[in-house]
Amino acid sequence: MNIIFFGPNGSGKGTQGSILKDKYSIAHIESGAIFRDNIKGGTELGKQAKAFIDKGDLVPDEITIPMILDRLKQDDCKKGWLLDGFPRNKVQAEKLDASLKAEGIKLNIVIEMILDRQIAKDRIMGRRLCEKDNNHPNNIFIDAIKPNGDKCRVCGGALTARADDQDEAAIDKRHSIYYNTDDGTLASAYYFRDLTKKDTSIKYITLQGEKDLKSVTNELISKL
Ligand code: AMP
Repeated sequence: MNIIFFGPNGSGKGTQGSILKDKYSIAHIESGAIFRDNIKGGTELGKQAKAFIDKGDLVPDEITIPMILDRLKQDDCKKGWLLDGFPRNKVQAEKLDASLKAEGIKLNIVIEMILDRQIAKDRIMGRRLCEKDNNHPNNIFIDAIKPNGDKCRVCGGALTARADDQDEAAIDKRHSIYYNTDDGTLASAYYFRDLTKKDTSIKYITLQGEKDLKSVTNELISKL
């Protein structure tokens, strides 16, 4: 099963992506995570990418496209893959499409998680981390997981906000790239949506991202 998953920062795409990865036992390829690993490991690729990532800009296509196309050729991708964070603009979409065709690799499913831009921003900025367990869900803007005053709703632990979750300018920059329907990430999603109109063997699935996590998962599973 080969899947591309689109969704803005703050939509819960990563969580749903992990569920899909486990369901189909496929490789989960997250372009952002590959860059972060390279930065941590001090590789040449990491050094090149860091300055762009720190500013919230896209890493140039000359670096990103070959990195992902090479990754798709590795052994663990033979049983299938889930692309998360790539493609992020129209050129990346076109190159990916051309490469898959050239390699005779079939794309099966494209998923678009739909979420209003303001809600996505509130979700990121409302996120709070519990000092005792980062997995305790707390968000001051989501009723279902509102903290208990200023304490963790699960265990009463102290809460903090991640610095990058409060960097409004960086969030706005990333969302401007995502919601750009001319040549940004939504343009690349629509590139594949148009393809699925011609090739009906590829499924294009939309998910309503404002629902709670479980409902989104149920919608996803029912539409696969
Ligand atoms: P993410 O974890 O998906 O939010 O990605 C973190 C950062 O990595 C992004 O803000 C970009 O700077 C870079 N990045 C990730 N994927 C891509 C991509 N497909 N094209 C260019 N830059 C990317």
